[in-house]
Amino acid sequence: MGPLRRKERNEQPKAGETCYFCTHGILEEKRVTVDFRWGEQLVIIENVPAKVCNECAERYYAAKIVRQMEQIVKEGRRERELRVPVVALK
Ligand SMILES: [Zn+2]
Repeated sequence: MGPLRRKERNEQPKAGETCYFCTHGILEEKRVTVDFRWGEQLVIIENVPAKVCNECAERYYAAKIVRQMEQIVKEGRRERELRVPVVALK
């Protein structure tokens, strides 16, 4: 699941709340690395604040954070680049 799906949710869960996805984990404030896809582009964004479920690892991003990530991709910002292999199962 990518951030775009989360963008459609209006809820902004807080740390300490129960996870909406698995309904029993607790959300913790963390900094995570996001593989953010925008059309054909893929940008890895580090140090992203998120609420992360301590059971199922589902991540929740604030709408403001999703907008920041979209902006980074639109502006073509980059600090370094990785070579990423691409394969298809046969
Ligand atoms: Zn969960």
